[in-house]
Amino acid sequence: MPAGRYAPSPSGTLHLGNLRTAIVAWLFARHSGRDFLLRLEDLDRVRAGAEAEQLADLAAIGITWDAAPVRQSERLHLYEDALTALGGLDSAAEDGLIYECFCSRKDIAEATSAPHHAPTASPQQGSTLVPPGSYPGTCRNLSGAERERRRAARPAALRINAARAAGLPEGQAPVHRVTDRLSGTVRAGVDDFVLRRNDGAYAYNLAVVVDDLAQGVDQVVRGDDLLSSTPRQDWLARLLCDRTGRQPPQTEYAHVPLVLNAAGQRLAKRDGAVTLADLAAAAGPSSGPVDHAGVPRGGWTPERVRDLLLDSLGLPAGSLDGALEHFAPDAVPESPWTPPQTVIGPAETPEEKIRFHR
Ligand code: GLU
Repeated sequence: MPAGRYAPSPSGTLHLGNLRTAIVAWLFARHSGRDFLLRLEDLDRVRAGAEAEQLADLAAIGITWDAAPVRQSERLHLYEDALTALGGLDSAAEDGLIYECFCSRKDIAEATSAPHHAPTASPQQGSTLVPPGSYPGTCRNLSGAERERRRAARPAALRINAARAAGLPEGQAPVHRVTDRLSGTVRAGVDDFVLRRNDGAYAYNLAVVVDDLAQGVDQVVRGDDLLSSTPRQDWLARLLCDRTGRQPPQTEYAHVPLVLNAAGQRLAKRDGAVTLADLAAAAGPSSGPVDHAGVPRGGWTPERVRDLLLDSLGLPAGSLDGALEHFAPDAVPESPWTPPQTVIGPAETPEEKIRFHR
């Protein structure tokens, strides 16, 4: 069964931006008759209790899913199999597709976590994105003796040799193109990105691709800060399919503009009352539709937060099933949304933070 999915990292509480993207992903999946799956991307930065809280918050705003959520931490064998399909560690030499990289931690810090970047305007149709932090190939051609020497000093990360995998001459990066429902054609050079970090953790770009293939996910709807990672992920999916004799999926991509704070930056916890729990803490007026601060009568229940998010998408208040009847993929707003200050209140200033935490 083809499927769409939502794949949160259980590193904290979901905020309005995460919840809004989850709603859009759910609407896309249901609108196209796909199953909807949840995957907990818990290879890194896990906060105890966050997983249960995230699932409860998603359920509270009406998100439903069709199978038990999976956890990446329980699927390590799949990522290992993918490395084997790419030639395995034995090929971390001469003519393999994987090589050892001894570059500093800073160079590879972004490898496991989804690389969230400051949102930029949607790329122009046909434009080429350079993935942030593209690797220059420093360790690509180390001799066996040199690798031996460096291994003694620090463990190696593993990188894909993209040019070799694509049958291109050394030093050239394949360019891969995907079509996004909202941003149009996106082209990007595929660099020798990390498959496994030097602490042994599988990299985000490998795990997400392996899981989407294994789960039958052929619709990826997520925040547009991950748009620049998409060409390399789609490229890797095709490579893995090729190496394992599978038909590559025709994945539909939709990268949803982020929710921003009043200063135009990606919404974060410090921006005020941005989670269901924060908002629920603001009691509503006992009479009248809203109080002077914009809190609705009865307070910010999960249903009212859902309605606020649906409104930001141009959809009517009420159940998600009701909104689905009005949903049109091509009508998803193409610009970022900023929640009204009357809803989330003022951002936490440094002084307040000090006072609050004393
Ligand atoms: N786990 C990633 C995040 O929390 C999302 C990955 C994806 O949707 O591909 O940002």
